[in-house]
Amino acid sequence: MSGEPARSWVVRIPCPQCGDGVVVASAATGARCRSCGSAHLVTGHGGPTVLVVPDRVANAEEARQVFVADLQARRAVELGLALGRDRGASSVATGAPEPDTRAADAGEALAARWGERLDAETRVLSDVRLLAPTCHLAGRLWEGVIGRDRAGTKVRQARVRAVEGAARACEASLPLPDMGALSWVQELWPWPASGQDVAPVLEPVGLDERFAALGARLDRVSPFAGVEPALRHAVLWVTARAVVMRPFHVLRLACRGRSLAVLVDGGARTCVVALEDAEALRIERAPRLARPGSLPGALGLRPMRCPECGGDLPLQRFEEVRLCRTCGRAFSHEGGRLHRVAYRVEARGLSGDTALLPFWRLRFRLQEVGGEIITSLGQLRGKLRRRHAEPIDGSDGRDTLDVPAFRSGGRARLADVLWRRPCEGEPGPHRTLDGPVSPGSGLPRPARLISIGPAEATALARLALLLGLGERDLAGASIPNLRALLGDSRIDVSAPTLVLREVSRAHLRA
Ligand SMILES: [Zn+2]
Ligand SMILES: [Zn+2]
Repeated sequence: MSGEPARSWVVRIPCPQCGDGVVVASAATGARCRSCGSAHLVTGHGGPTVLVVPDRVANAEEARQVFVADLQARRAVELGLALGRDRGASSVATGAPEPDTRAADAGEALAARWGERLDAETRVLSDVRLLAPTCHLAGRLWEGVIGRDRAGTKVRQARVRAVEGAARACEASLPLPDMGALSWVQELWPWPASGQDVAPVLEPVGLDERFAALGARLDRVSPFAGVEPALRHAVLWVTARAVVMRPFHVLRLACRGRSLAVLVDGGARTCVVALEDAEALRIERAPRLARPGSLPGALGLRPMRCPECGGDLPLQRFEEVRLCRTCGRAFSHEGGRLHRVAYRVEARGLSGDTALLPFWRLRFRLQEVGGEIITSLGQLRGKLRRRHAEPIDGSDGRDTLDVPAFRSGGRARLADVLWRRPCEGEPGPHRTLDGPVSPGSGLPRPARLISIGPAEATALARLALLLGLGERDLAGASIPNLRALLGDSRIDVSAPTLVLREVSRAHLRA
């Protein structure tokens, strides 16, 4: 019930209470120690954190064994294929195809004998262990699109999904393999604060530019099924930036009278490449090594308690706004700290049919290119319907935009449902209370929703506007007009305030 897509990677951080490893997902803001049960706030998400892939190759002799085993495995595949081809040729004559497994087994047996000889004839001349930096960026990509479906009707779609990207962060003539998603890595460790017992590091270069390029790549258009997009707006919300250090072993091996340079990946226990000595010389000259001390920060843990009353805070790992279970006060998690957030409650009296949901309320200002300033949804609707706007619908009086302070557990459909009418409350008189509301008053928290912080909500303002328009608004507006007003315009938003609004449970289940 993590709610976060399986793509996030995990880091193991020592527990401040008992010293055991606490497993923390890359984007998590909270974590619990499985050994002592203590709850922690995760700090250090502000800048890039430095993480280390554990080296599973202990020394030069083990690296040599990886080389031998890898070559033997490749040999087995080659031999198996060759034997299979021969048998396949003969079986065509007899009309009875033989199973491939027998050829594969025979290949294995031949390769095992070949490997034994290789093992006996290979020895290490020299070895260097080093760490190579890779930039990793993980986040949520919020996308909204207005376009036409196959029948030509204007439609609007939205989704949010987890994205992840990687780029090499060093210039080296070493033939380092690229690295894709990190989710295959079992676990990572934070960079040791002491800097001791750390292997030399290939000098990281241009971290800022590489992170920027990664972000731009992840932000690119992705097609929505069945919609010809006319206007797309995407927000990449970065949840984790990390420089991941991968262990490599550069070996020089004497093998059957030849000298080879071999690069072994210590995290994956595979042989990346084996080169003849002429090229090997180039490899050994290549590394420009940096002092590990100059690298940025690490993830940390801090006790998770209500800063006001010391009470328990809910330990949803990815939550960014937490309501204290004792005093009802709300806190947002930013910069590794909890900040008190005042909130108001808008309700007509809670019943079993309704739930309180958090929204970030912003004031927005939309400025057309060289044109008018729009500060309410009513104005926006008026402008969308006519090229030359009628006098603005001043009676509307709403100059605010409510952006959901939550997201579904990665389920695009639910986000879409909840955003269908994000800007309008239920009709009828509302009771407005100032928070905090004590949990005893029945403050419900829908379990499947995960709160988002004010900064992310602010970034999503334009998307919320786009999705806040109803089907009638869309039908009455021309595509160029939509593009000019929602795409090309400039948007300014105020600092958001938190409002808990009553929403019918039926709407949540839809
Ligand atoms: Zn512990
Ligand atoms: Zn409290």
